[in-house]
Amino acid sequence: MRDGRLDGIHAILDPDKPRRVGAGRRWLPSAVDRRWAPELTALITDGETAPVPRPIHTLPNRHRWDRMPGVTLLRDAAHLMPPSGEGANLAMLDGADLGRAIAAHPDGLEAALTVYEEAMFPRSESEAADAHRLMALCLDDRAPHSLIDFLTG
Ligand SMILES: Cc1cc2nc3c(=O)[nH]c(=O)nc-3n(C[C@H](O)[C@H](O)[C@H](O)COP(=O)(O)OP(=O)(O)OC[C@H]3O[C@@H](n4cnc5c(N)ncnc54)[C@H](O)[C@@H]3O)c2cc1C
Repeated sequence: MRDGRLDGIHAILDPDKPRRVGAGRRWLPSAVDRRWAPELTALITDGETAPVPRPIHTLPNRHRWDRMPGVTLLRDAAHLMPPSGEGANLAMLDGADLGRAIAAHPDGLEAALTVYEEAMFPRSESEAADAHRLMALCLDDRAPHSLIDFLTG
């Protein structure tokens, strides 16, 4: 809610260009087909402002780098993945882990960075794989039934 307006985020798997419907700013993602209830499509087309399409960028699940003296990455810069409810948690854990590693190695920054990266890489890889699985459950051809099966199965 902002300035008396309700903002919404719609996640849609849509590699194609959105198509315009009607006049003016109204548009629909090409993935939205005519079986959708008009009340749902209206959430996209009938806003007071035009929707802003934002692609989801991700790093590869097994993204890692060779140790560079004095340099490391943390948070999304290290492991950008689809939104799955864990990104901010991982970001905070990275910071806490890195701080702990530096405190434990006051005379050896390289050792601290190595300790941090050795824990961070496999943790991020596993969470990134889960995030891609969750996104598929939410947005694949069977959605929402794939997500319902997952939650009730
Ligand atoms: C739609 C969506 C939903 C999400 N939902 C959740 C959720 O429910 N739970 C969860 O845990 N995570 C969620 N996440 C992920 C979470 O938002 C991120 O993982 C987390 O914010 C990463 O923190 P960060 O500090 O790495 O990056 P950010 O929070 O993106 O911070 C980076 C900052 O750097 C600034 N910046 C960028 N470039 C420059 C520059 N050149 N100069 C100066 N500043 C710059 C940006 O403006 C930004 O403020 C979601 C992400 C998205 C996209």
